[in-house]
Amino acid sequence: MQINKKAINNSKQENLEVFVHTENGKVVTFEPYLLVGCDGLHSIVRNTLKDWDKPTSDRFEMKLFPSPSSCLRYKVLTLPPNFPLVHSSNEHAVSTMAYAIPGALRGRKRSVSLGILPLKNPDEPRSANIIKYPDHQIWELKNSEELYNFFEKAFPQLPIRQIVSPEEAERFAKSEGAYFPIPQYCSGLHLLLMHEPGCLEIPQSSSSGIILLGDAIHCFPPDIGQGVNSALEDVYILNEALSQSNDELSRSLPLYESLRLPDTKALVYLAQTAYPWQYNQNSLGKLVWYVNFFLRLLLSRLLPFIFNPPAFFLIQNYQLSYQQIWVMVQRTTKTFYILSIIFLCGLLALVLKDLVSIY
Ligand SMILES: Cc1cc2nc3c(=O)[nH]c(=O)nc-3n(C[C@H](O)[C@H](O)[C@H](O)COP(=O)(O)OP(=O)(O)OC[C@H]3O[C@@H](n4cnc5c(N)ncnc54)[C@H](O)[C@@H]3O)c2cc1C
Repeated sequence: MQINKKAINNSKQENLEVFVHTENGKVVTFEPYLLVGCDGLHSIVRNTLKDWDKPTSDRFEMKLFPSPSSCLRYKVLTLPPNFPLVHSSNEHAVSTMAYAIPGALRGRKRSVSLGILPLKNPDEPRSANIIKYPDHQIWELKNSEELYNFFEKAFPQLPIRQIVSPEEAERFAKSEGAYFPIPQYCSGLHLLLMHEPGCLEIPQSSSSGIILLGDAIHCFPPDIGQGVNSALEDVYILNEALSQSNDELSRSLPLYESLRLPDTKALVYLAQTAYPWQYNQNSLGKLVWYVNFFLRLLLSRLLPFIFNPPAFFLIQNYQLSYQQIWVMVQRTTKTFYILSIIFLCGLLALVLKDLVSIY
């Protein structure tokens, strides 16, 4: 796909021109007045805007916010619908139940477990997500036999050769998998094409523009399960902005950006902090995160007017915007800091009092 700006009749008015190269080698050309860039993290639409905007601004550049879950590698292993759960037993997996199958191997580069989400349809194959650091042994398995050997050591309780077909084992070993993205957003969510100001022959409603949404503007690891929800919310806000401005792009696209950007930023900050240690990456990191989580949970139950629940719980409340959730989380963090300073000052005062009484 290629996107160009085209000047109209030597005036200052510009229009869009899109060339799409189809699979059968044809090139289809469009001249849209609104182009919706919802083409994911590696968005060609956003990258085109970045190139157009480069010398003057970084509006379409993704800003990165590292998290403990970013850059983890993952692959998906497909299992039969009702696979056996143990050797020599009639116990089989039930489609509507989630399973966390612990592994027997220990150590950061060897330990592995299988997480299997529930499904409504009992005939659907089950997917086990394997999420590990990029230097884990599981990524070194080269073929089905190496996979069987590793899984027999990791899951001695499972009849692995019965569960994983040779074709699936080979496919898994050969596939590259993918990496969790670093939480990121870009601050430019739209571009209006040049429109001759005050030109009465060209009505405002004839402006053309480009709008971005979904992973093209905000992307993060799946820790908080908000990728699809937030993309759908982008669509909802875009629809609101279009209705509020009678579909006039020169007003609705800036309105969409002003309504959506604060939530986009908050969403990425939440993705960075809300639940990044859930993949058993590091015991210390996980412990510190859980202490913080349970402290917020406990204090929010005891003193709900002072402390807010942890972000992961607040995200489940669909009535709160991402921005509202982030403000609530930040408020509790500030309260923690203030209480810590008061506590440390009190401690210092006691120590000083003791010192004064000694001398
Ligand atoms: C491992 C993993 C697990 C996840 N789990 C969850 C979860 O549990 N819950 C959740 O809400 N979210 C989850 N997400 C995030 C979620 O998948 C994304 O946030 C969501 O799919 C974003 O939707 P999108 O339409 O913006 O982008 P995408 O889903 O990436 O869709 C973009 C589409 O554009 C197409 N495209 C791109 N370029 C072109 C082109 N040049 N021409 C034509 N088509 C093009 C692509 O083929 C694709 O179909 C997960 C993500 C990952 C990586």
